[in-house]
Amino acid sequence: MSDAYGFYTDTTVCIGCKACQVACHQWNELPAELEQQPTEHSPGQTRPMTGNSYDNTGSFSDVNWRHVKFIEKSEIPAMGTTAASVSHSPQDPNRDNLQWLMMSDVCKHCVNAPCLEVCPTGAIIRTEFDSVYIQEPVCNGCRNCVGACPFGVIHMGGTANEGEGTAKKCTLCYDRMQHGLTPACAQACPTESIQFGKITDLKVRAEQRVKDLHDLGFPQAQLYGADTKILGGLNSFYLLMDQPEVYGLPSNPKLPSRAVIPSTFLSMGSALLVALGGLFAFRKKRMEEFAADPTAKER
Ligand code: SF4
Ligand code: SF4
Repeated sequence: MSDAYGFYTDTTVCIGCKACQVACHQWNELPAELEQQPTEHSPGQTRPMTGNSYDNTGSFSDVNWRHVKFIEKSEIPAMGTTAASVSHSPQDPNRDNLQWLMMSDVCKHCVNAPCLEVCPTGAIIRTEFDSVYIQEPVCNGCRNCVGACPFGVIHMGGTANEGEGTAKKCTLCYDRMQHGLTPACAQACPTESIQFGKITDLKVRAEQRVKDLHDLGFPQAQLYGADTKILGGLNSFYLLMDQPEVYGLPSNPKLPSRAVIPSTFLSMGSALLVALGGLFAFRKKRMEEFAADPTAKER
């Protein structure tokens, strides 16, 4: 395999403009997500506002392969103390301690990809760029990958609606990469929050940025997915300014196969306990019968 390519997303310079989302829709000819699909006689109906800050996408979907998250948080004194506690729904009317975290989220193109591991048809493949790609004509619509992805990336979709058809997600613009082009979202990002390139080069750049932020007095700056701890490494990794959970990212996602041995032992343990319980109950019953009628032993 040639060099691995992917994204380094520096969330500190994301301005929430959603140019990446728009570029993804445009390049991949993804339709707008509507509450009601258009018919011959109606133009459809737009989605209602989510009410969650400036996030009107809400989540990934069959047509939203990128999702810009807006996380508002404030540090407020805990009840009866002066100690600050963090609230993720801002309650500080003076806006003194507010923080607005923005992050453009996408498929992580995991090195050990749970979706690829569970795909029974071989529809999900690893490309020559080390990205994870769904061959839609081979997808049988089983949805195994939907449940396996720990980041909620994959959604079913088709010509009819979300939930039907085949599995959909970011392709890392495989078609553009095959022609030496940068993925559309990274190309459109005006602040270079989304940087595309060889993973080895991106890691060097990201580590330097973390060091600079620490030197500038931001000790909370940290990389997510740049090392091998998360699913062998993420080919779309992030620089975060808080714990992963604040951004809705799991700290320690697991491959489905890693759960097989523990759950097998758990099932065997449960079966043993049930068998022992039955044995003790039977023995107790026989002893009670014997106490009531000593001749019962011989029967
Ligand atoms: S983020 Fe989800 S969909 Fe993307 S490669 Fe990893 S498991 Fe698959
Ligand atoms: S790499 Fe291409 S498909 Fe993936 S989010 Fe960016 S524009 Fe969309």
